[in-house]
Amino acid sequence: MAFDRRLPTGADRRVPATPDRRTPVRRDDVPAGDTGSFRFRSNAYRSTQGEPVVPPYPSRVDLHTHSCRSDGILEPMELVAAAAAAGVQVLALADHDTLAGVRELCAPGHAPLPLELLPAVEINSVARGIPQLWEGELHILGLGVDLHDHVFEATLERQRLFRVSRFDRIVDRLRQLGYPIDAQVDEMLLAHGPASGASLGRPQIARCLVAARYASSVDDAMQRLLVRGKPAYMPREGLGPVEAVSAIRAAGGLPSLAHFADAYDRRELVAELANSGVGGLEVHYRHFDRDTVADLAGVARELRLVPTGGSDYHGDGETYAEAHAALFVPDEDATDLFALLGRRHLTIRSEASSI
Ligand SMILES: [Zn+2]
Ligand SMILES: [Zn+2]
Repeated sequence: MAFDRRLPTGADRRVPATPDRRTPVRRDDVPAGDTGSFRFRSNAYRSTQGEPVVPPYPSRVDLHTHSCRSDGILEPMELVAAAAAAGVQVLALADHDTLAGVRELCAPGHAPLPLELLPAVEINSVARGIPQLWEGELHILGLGVDLHDHVFEATLERQRLFRVSRFDRIVDRLRQLGYPIDAQVDEMLLAHGPASGASLGRPQIARCLVAARYASSVDDAMQRLLVRGKPAYMPREGLGPVEAVSAIRAAGGLPSLAHFADAYDRRELVAELANSGVGGLEVHYRHFDRDTVADLAGVARELRLVPTGGSDYHGDGETYAEAHAALFVPDEDATDLFALLGRRHLTIRSEASSI
């Protein structure tokens, strides 16, 4: 896809606390991923250590975002509107283990979207046997997957069931620890429950802990209670990285290794994943510093992986515009990706009425 290069104009343990919404919360997916996690590792998250990336122009592409159909905060259409307002022309909604948000946006009768939407998912694969990974996981984006692939949907549904089981176990554990959040969970499920094909994760639990005033922020809840090594942590179950990659490939998508800042130091592992079908590397990530981006771009070149990039926006403590301002995805890289995926993925808006 060729881009218009003109810049868009466009207890008690309770703590009193509503975090300042202008204070950015740094995290991985959990938004902090399944959690924001990387900054607590020695060498996996360098954005806070080096020169920040200064976007030469506002990114027209964001290939990694989350809505409240998984662990984001915004409704899918709210996210689309915020991204379009920030100048994004192509957006990948990559909710965890669900295409529910994308399906809603592409449903017959839905209002036209102000940007091109790329169907996507993020699978937090359980990397058994691979040492020294944050929480033992590798996150794989599936960009451009087929919305109508029933086998893939069945796979995602199994993943969501594992998430429900883990969610319940964590809530039970929190109750045992003296942090009952049943009322907050009921309220949250009423609004965004799994009946709609939405998926559950720790960020929602963290928000319930904040709502119950057991934590001052999502980040606080994650780091004190929910991340690995903390009292309410429960291990994830589900697909391994190679299984996730195979499932995405079978659904016609491009598997891209997400926010893996260690890619440069662990090129052998990345090469192994590339041999297993990974075709992209998330080189551009708003929490990466300039050196990390440069290192990962080198890895992508060396291993012939398509560079991808995104904000990993979830919505805690910041607006989309604030997240977008820290993101830079070069048009050239996006163009390469779209060439690989084919134009069918860029015409969803016009196809919406026939889906
Ligand atoms: Zn993510
Ligand atoms: Zn992630």
